[in-house]
Amino acid sequence: MLVGVLGGGQLGRMLALAGIPLGMRFRFLDPAPEAPAGAVGELVVGAYDDEGALKELAEGATVLTYEFENVPVAAARSLAERVTVLPPPEALEAAQDRVAEKRLFARLGIPAAPWAPVGGPEELPAALAAVGAPALLKTRRLGYDGKGQAPVERPSDAGSAWEAVGRSPSILEARVGFDRELSVLAVRGRDGEVRAYPLVENVHREGILRVSRAPAPGLTSDLQARAEGFARRVLEELGYVGVLAIELFQVGEQLLANEMAPRVHNSGHWTIEGALTSQFENHLRAVAGLPLGPTDPRGCSAMVNLIGATPRPAEVLAVPGAHLHLYGKAPRPGRKLGHVTVVAEDEGTLEARLAEVRPAVERAAG
Ligand code: AMP
Repeated sequence: MLVGVLGGGQLGRMLALAGIPLGMRFRFLDPAPEAPAGAVGELVVGAYDDEGALKELAEGATVLTYEFENVPVAAARSLAERVTVLPPPEALEAAQDRVAEKRLFARLGIPAAPWAPVGGPEELPAALAAVGAPALLKTRRLGYDGKGQAPVERPSDAGSAWEAVGRSPSILEARVGFDRELSVLAVRGRDGEVRAYPLVENVHREGILRVSRAPAPGLTSDLQARAEGFARRVLEELGYVGVLAIELFQVGEQLLANEMAPRVHNSGHWTIEGALTSQFENHLRAVAGLPLGPTDPRGCSAMVNLIGATPRPAEVLAVPGAHLHLYGKAPRPGRKLGHVTVVAEDEGTLEARLAEVRPAVERAAG
């Protein structure tokens, strides 16, 4: 079975690493000739809206999927006329536009922070009146890892925030004083079966995910059930097939949805060693129409992103339970170059092992 993937980044690379043992072959489309997935499959170098490149990607493929959500929806739709595209292009559409995403959450009764659309600067006063400050101005499209966001500490910041987001159509969103950030990852098969991983606790710095812990410390069955319910509603509403991630804020006992990703997610990398079936394998099982695998954790896991620099492998691998994943990318400040997953039997041992891994990672980062 040939799986075509829109995007050839590290997520594509890890999809192939999970799918090759299942007898799958991979072909990726990416604008960059040095895309990380080129090491594990065929790479078509081209733009996501290049008709010829899209045709080449789809040629002979059993199913197409994506590892990057900013693929033009029109391209996904035109491909879907020729070959099965999963998750469905409607999921891409909802995830690409913060207004569509918030409306989807609202329609499904999934709570989120107060927000208002800002189509132009003349709409800022009404948005501020509705949402209040402090808030964040976020571009409707092409925002990720904190990009396309500007803080609005007080109403007088609104004008400069508008300039900072490049005068792009945006939303104004109330800043949430969250206790912690969580994410829920769930997978839906072609037969409609849904399985969810235990909630993950995520620590971000400068808008970029740094560390994930799974299961989230102190996780209760009530919290898990509510988050799973959010994911299930989105999956079913969109007729979704594959892995979906929803990022959440926990405020006391309340859960608010921040955003969703219609793909495997950075906060699910721990599942490679830390769960009975990884998110990558389950995504492929789902899109290929195979039975889903169990999502139970193997003990406790933590994932540390390697950003801008990578540690010496020997230093990481000397720590029991530590696993190193390098993506084959050229170092650049702020770039995700790899991750380390640490697995342990209990939270205490996990934290001790994490404390051993950290100095190696921090030394590399300088
Ligand atoms: P996003 O690109 O929307 O995922 O935002 C990146 C990060 O910015 C999130 O993971 C949070 O750490 C922070 N952030 C985003 N939206 C809010 C908000 N409404 N309140 C507080 N922090 C936020």
